[in-house]
Formats: sequence, C-alpha cells, structure tokens
Amino acid sequence: MNPIYHRARFLLSAADARRLPEDGGLEVAFAGRSNSGKSSAINALCNQKSLARTSKTPGRTQLINFFGLIENRRLVDLPGYGYAKVPEKTRRLWQIQIERYLTERESLRGLVMMMDIRHPLTDYDWQMLAWCAHRHLPVHVLLTKADKLKRGPAMSTLHQVRRALAEEGIEATVQIFSALKKTGIDEVHAKLDEWLELEPAGDKVP
Ligand code: GDP
Repeated sequence: MNPIYHRARFLLSAADARRLPEDGGLEVAFAGRSNSGKSSAINALCNQKSLARTSKTPGRTQLINFFGLIENRRLVDLPGYGYAKVPEKTRRLWQIQIERYLTERESLRGLVMMMDIRHPLTDYDWQMLAWCAHRHLPVHVLLTKADKLKRGPAMSTLHQVRRALAEEGIEATVQIFSALKKTGIDEVHAKLDEWLELEPAGDKVP
C-alpha cells in the first residue's frame, strides 16, 4: 500500500474545462454515473471520510475537483454523469466539459471508471469508453458496491464485463470493489502507482 494516497488534499474545483490547473505532471481521473459510488471509492482509496463529497444533491458535484498527492501528481474527480433529474441542457453541458477534459488534458494518464456492479455498462459508460478509446487513454473499471452481491454473481459479472469490453475491442482492466468492505483497494493503488509513475512500495518522489 502506497501511503501517498492517504495524503491527498483538495486543491481546487473548476466549473469549466477551460479553466483548469496548469496541464503539467501526471493525473488520474475518476468518472462514473451519479450514484455509482465514485465519491465513496475516492474516499476509501485516500482513507479519508469526506475528501470527495458523497452527496445525492446533483448541484454540489458538478465541478471538476482536483486533489494533490505529491508535487505534480493529482487525482481528479469528474462530475457524475447520467443524473436523471437535471434538465437535458445542463446534462449536455456537463458532457461537453467531461469530453473536453478527457480528450484534451495532456497530463491525464488514465481513467478509473466506477460502475455499480448491479448495473454495469450503461449507454453513458459506453460513451465515456468511446472517448477514452479515441485518444488511447487507458481505462480501469471498478465494479462498485460488490458487497451487494454474493461472490458467485459478483465474479460472473466481472467476467461478463471483461468479455463485453473485449468484444468491442476496448482494452480496459476490470476489478471488483467495495468501499464499504474495503475490497479491492490494493489493486486500485497498484494501477494508480503505475499510471502516476510512483514507487509501489513507498513514498519516495521519483
Ligand atoms: P457518487 O454519486 O457516484 O459519488 O456515489 P456515492 O459515493 O455518493 O454513493 C452513492 C450511494 O451508494 C450512497 O448511498 C453510498 O452510501 C452507496 N455506496 C457507495 N459505495 C458503496 C459500497 O461499497 N457498498 C454499498 N453497499 N453501498 C455503497
């Protein structure tokens, strides 16, 4: 376990993908439908209770939030997509922001996508995957809230999702995750270490 993630601290929120922090260093972004468990996953990975806001209020989470790890290494919380109760126009605007960030951000090295294990691969998820494929951005999928299923069905969903992605020619890694039971955290840290070019074992700055 790399202690760097526990030191994550809030840097800033951007309402507009054209006003982001300087595009240098390395970043990993987190995306998912609203209610997919994204905030809970970020909090569990950083071992903090309220770094990312776990909130059902859509207006509070529609910013791109940046968290600093060490110098020039950041985690980025993208707005949750697919929230049913917002007007179509607003939803479209968020999509444009996310698309702009994903396609233009040079320091972005990978995307962690949260999908509720009971409802993976929605139309919105496929849209995100298509944007990532377009720029060859690596994707790591977390099947969240895995504690809601027994081990058998959870493993079967894991294999189904891997197969569905492979059939579409999408090269993404997929794992099971539960913020509640703290399942799968080491596996995500290993992926983040790889993308952020951090020493797996420690807190040394490369
Ligand atoms: P977000 O909208 O994607 O940021 O999702 P949240 O992290 O706010 O979580 C949405 C809902 O799912 C909340 O009620 C959480 O308590 C619940 N939730 C999140 N992660 C887990 C988990 O690992 N297990 C269970 N059982 N519930 C979870």
